Amino acid sequence: MNDDQAPTYDGGCTCRFVRYRMSSKPLFVHCCHCRWCQRETGTAFALNAVIEADRVELLQGEVDVVVTASLSGKGQKISRCPRCRVAVWSNYAGAGDAVRFVRVGTLDEPDRLPPDIHIFTSSKQPWVVLPTGIQVVAEFYNASERWPKESLERWAALTASRALR
Ligand SMILES: [Zn+2]
Ligand SMILES: [Zn+2]
Repeated sequence: MNDDQAPTYDGGCTCRFVRYRMSSKPLFVHCCHCRWCQRETGTAFALNAVIEADRVELLQGEVDVVVTASLSGKGQKISRCPRCRVAVWSNYAGAGDAVRFVRVGTLDEPDRLPPDIHIFTSSKQPWVVLPTGIQVVAEFYNASERWPKESLERWAALTASRALR
């Protein structure tokens, strides 16, 4: 499906029952500082790689989908390992099932996917100091103004294929 040079990213849960592979780079990587992500992770922010769902292959195991309240009020579906309960990705109501938000910390090499943007920094923990030269927004943003051209093209292809169904 992808060209030969497409990088892949493997990851999984803590007990190793769930193993997955992202078959390409994500569209964009969010570091979300909203209160909901702080509560859900029990820490200062969530790090999510936004990617087409069909580019995330379950190599091993299965996931339990837990419907969880979200900031938008529309809910999110969090996919967790049925054994150790670690969350590996979510689907949000806004983007639907076609897009997954893979939790970067569950990758074997999370260092490969630093954030492209920091969002909801209006509720950022004051001791988290952001590097200079990175995109920062107080709340959310328009992808058309922030994403690289290649990601916008992939997004357009995704929405076109969904419309045809
Ligand atoms: Zn597990
Ligand atoms: Zn958040």
